[in-house]
Amino acid sequence: MMKKAAHIGVEVAKRNTYSIIDCENCNFIHALIQENTNHQELYKTHFYSEEKPNYIEDNKNDAEWWDLTYGLRVSQIDKLRLSESKNWLDIGTGPGYFLDAAARRMKDVVGIEPGQLAAEHAASKGHRVINDYFTEKISSELGIFDAIHCSEVLEHVPDPLDFLKTIQLNMNSETILCTVVPNDFSLIQSIFTQNKNNDEKWWVDPPFHLNYFARESLRKILEASGLKVIHETSMFPIDLFLLMGDDYIGNDVKGKEVHQRRKKLEFSFYKSGNIEILNNLYEQMTKLGLGRELVFFSKLDKK
Ligand SMILES: [Zn+2]
Repeated sequence: MMKKAAHIGVEVAKRNTYSIIDCENCNFIHALIQENTNHQELYKTHFYSEEKPNYIEDNKNDAEWWDLTYGLRVSQIDKLRLSESKNWLDIGTGPGYFLDAAARRMKDVVGIEPGQLAAEHAASKGHRVINDYFTEKISSELGIFDAIHCSEVLEHVPDPLDFLKTIQLNMNSETILCTVVPNDFSLIQSIFTQNKNNDEKWWVDPPFHLNYFARESLRKILEASGLKVIHETSMFPIDLFLLMGDDYIGNDVKGKEVHQRRKKLEFSFYKSGNIEILNNLYEQMTKLGLGRELVFFSKLDKK
């Protein structure tokens, strides 16, 4: 749980009785945790069955695109390492599409996933999956990995700093960690809400989504935990569609449509042998604070 140290800062949003503050002590935006909520239990039983009912099915339709997306992260890590990575840990494995991508690339990979339905789905494909929350106890039973993938997790956990420190128990000086989080309270989101003259911050979603990172705050928390960021990129800034007039907020049909267009763009570069150009574009955009999800690579900071 969060330390008793005061979480204070300007309130930047309010939702479902939660106050979201730009915390001066944590250096990132987060919800004020309510003592009576058991977040671990929330995840195990509710996340994939109630909050994300179509998640597993939608991912199935996107399998080829996820393979490309995750494959790029695997090869990025191999480029950043002195020797090729062999054993991987995937924290927050969901329905197992990262496990598929890693296994296809001959990586020995284990996934950990608190959601029961998702964990069962991933395990049904023959992967090694631990159906639990990533805790210090679980971490201590796993040993050291060449690479760790932790995508769309830090925004959900009650204490992300502590979580990052636990991950480091599974790292040595050569291990590379890939952390992916949504890029929130971003420039694009701010322009869009101003254009609409509507201050509803659709990306604010407690109690499932507790923490909100941007480029600077993600780097700060990684560094505060004892890591050194060695490569920064991001995923396609899909919210640019909002500024182009495609308002997909709360509109699943429109949301799928813009996602198809993003896929088409990325496959066009990939299939024509130009994926490196697109990678470079995303890296440059990250420097400008653009990109819907931040994808940061880090190592233990030797001090
Ligand atoms: Zn705080």
